[in-house]
Amino acid sequence: MKSNSNKLIPVTYLTSYLYCPRKFYLEKIKRLPQPPTKQMIEGRIHHEIRQAFSNNEKDLILTLTKHANIENEFQKLLNELIHLSFAENTKLIRTFSISTSELKSKIIRAMNQDIELRIHAIKQTIQQGFIGPELWFNLKPKYISEHPLSSENLGLKGRVDRVMIEGDTIIPFELKTRGVTKIFPSDEIQITAYAMLLEEHYKKSIPLGILEAGNKTHEIPITEENKIKVLQLIEEIKNITENPPYPSNFAKCQSCPWQIQCESLGQKKPDWKD
Ligand code: SF4
Repeated sequence: MKSNSNKLIPVTYLTSYLYCPRKFYLEKIKRLPQPPTKQMIEGRIHHEIRQAFSNNEKDLILTLTKHANIENEFQKLLNELIHLSFAENTKLIRTFSISTSELKSKIIRAMNQDIELRIHAIKQTIQQGFIGPELWFNLKPKYISEHPLSSENLGLKGRVDRVMIEGDTIIPFELKTRGVTKIFPSDEIQITAYAMLLEEHYKKSIPLGILEAGNKTHEIPITEENKIKVLQLIEEIKNITENPPYPSNFAKCQSCPWQIQCESLGQKKPDWKD
């Protein structure tokens, strides 16, 4: 299949651009080499495991018997995937002195809710008398992790952390590992962009998304206003110049690794008031 997916803008670009258009330009357009950090490597391993979990989930459900210990089966699968991913990333784990036991606990903690939601749905569907392929087919709701989406029409692509599907109801979830519970404008934009991709993919209206951040669950209404903002951001990114605008405040610059490169882009700094 021919694909134009390389030309599509990742949803995460929208949030990077919102944070600072100049930083976005240096990192994503000029592609200045960024040294990987421990946090980036841990995040990458976590995403790999979520992806592998999602890829293996259907096979696991198909093999479940009526009296299976579903909790054990899911835990076994997750342990196997963690073990496999750690083995594949041994070199990086050593280089960044990552504690595998700490990372393993962090991943299990973060995925517990995903697993609990699935187990609840599976148990209910088994009680209705479904097993094997019928169990998968009748599973309600279905949860899909790392759902890949793309749209030539929107010029956008991305992977949604979790999507819940139950009949006509489709809800995108964005899962943040940060401790802060506050909702940022970039969270709303990210969830709205995923909702737009899902609306096009499933041809259904999506009025709501969920943000999980700082151990709290926030409902994010999908508004026309935010949809317009998403489209505007896509256009701004497509038409970015060599001299992008500054962010709204100076605080972001203080810990920015690109201060020298940013100066060399030119343009006078605004008179920040904060
Ligand atoms: S120094 Fe400030 S304006 Fe420049 S890239 Fe960094 S955050 Fe953006």
